[in-house]
Amino acid sequence: MSLPSVSSLSRRKFFRLTSSLAATLSAAPLMHAAQGSTETAGEDYYAKLGVTKIINAAGTYTTLTAACMPPQVVEAVRVAALHPVRLADLQQKSGAYLAQRLRCEGAVVTSGACGAITLATAACLQHANNCDPLDLPQKADTMKKRQVIVQKAHRYGYDHAMFLAGARVTEVVTMDDYKRACDAGDGVMTNFFNAAEDEDGIAGTAQIGREDWLRVAHDHGIPCHIDAAADMPPISNLWKYTGMGFDLVSFSGGKGIRGPQNAGLLLGRKELTDLAYQNNNPNEGVGRGMKVAKEQIVGMVAAIDWVLSHTEEQMQGDYQKRADLIAGMMKGIPSVTTLTVTPRIANHVPHLLIRFDPAVTGMTTKQIVDKLRSGTPSIELNPNTGHKPNQGIPSDANTLVVGVWMLQPGEDEIVGQKIRAALTKA
Ligand SMILES: *Cc1c(COP(=O)(O)O)cnc(C)c1O
Repeated sequence: MSLPSVSSLSRRKFFRLTSSLAATLSAAPLMHAAQGSTETAGEDYYAKLGVTKIINAAGTYTTLTAACMPPQVVEAVRVAALHPVRLADLQQKSGAYLAQRLRCEGAVVTSGACGAITLATAACLQHANNCDPLDLPQKADTMKKRQVIVQKAHRYGYDHAMFLAGARVTEVVTMDDYKRACDAGDGVMTNFFNAAEDEDGIAGTAQIGREDWLRVAHDHGIPCHIDAAADMPPISNLWKYTGMGFDLVSFSGGKGIRGPQNAGLLLGRKELTDLAYQNNNPNEGVGRGMKVAKEQIVGMVAAIDWVLSHTEEQMQGDYQKRADLIAGMMKGIPSVTTLTVTPRIANHVPHLLIRFDPAVTGMTTKQIVDKLRSGTPSIELNPNTGHKPNQGIPSDANTLVVGVWMLQPGEDEIVGQKIRAALTKA
């Protein structure tokens, strides 16, 4: 089966299926524009603003607005947007529902994985120091405990999400370093960057695996957070890490889960997710600026329902078909070979690698990327195109990388045609 997406075709079909719902809603004042024609349900503001729509052959990249929500999720958001509710009621009940569906004790819908990391850190600072949310971050300077323990190979840009709550990082390399850092008594949390794990010797130099990491921290009573932002699929990862014993787990809502781009999940032990909730908006703690509106909360819950309505085989099979279709279209082009790879952790979906010899094709990688980008429609390839091996994708200077999972129906064929044209200088 193919995965639903927001094409006008599937939207039309969806409206037909839900005509009674549409009829009910057409009575609401905000729906006047949609009356009579489902095709004019809203103005195209990209066209109005002159913003170029792209074909996303890259993946769930934040700068490319990550994923598009499936029609069911868009509809759930639209319906929710028409009605005010009590925010706390929605936050509490969405959290309880998600925790039950995702097999953990507690859940908070956050503004994204990055927002989830800040709330996780605030929760752990509060847990360790028994302080008030309003003490963070300014009083953290005088708190006995404020360190987040992190392996050197797991340091990244999202460390700022922890600094924001008032925490500081203690960096460790060896197991001895780690034990010493835990013994120091100033640790409030540990952070594990899930996708940084060593893959085929390509990336990552972390020495401590998940189980040892958890054991040592827990021996010292320190809660462990894992950043699994881009690590669904597989679907089972949504409960794998809490099941392993991580106290807090962050996911991005707008990547593979295909909820709103400004949504995310913080899952874990209820004692800690309750503290995260206290630090979340609308309370005036560090999370106040990370507002999650009713549209994002409902969109996040609906996206989880959408994900859980699939099997792993359905999802991966559909992506593989797209990769195979494009690979087939490269047949017979001199010097070109194709290969499908699935990174082991983040972005765990088939990616198509198209290798070529620029001396034969007469086009360099950069020329092809520019040509696709400036063409109509404008196409963005995966940023590992022309790159050295990275995050499980064995690319090189003369390799195009096609991320197929965010393509809308029919776009696989367009991408195949345009790449073939570029490689044959057609
Ligand atoms: C994308 C990403 C984030 C941030 O996720 P948002 O939902 O955009 O806030 C954090 N950590 C990792 C590893 C990511 O890949």
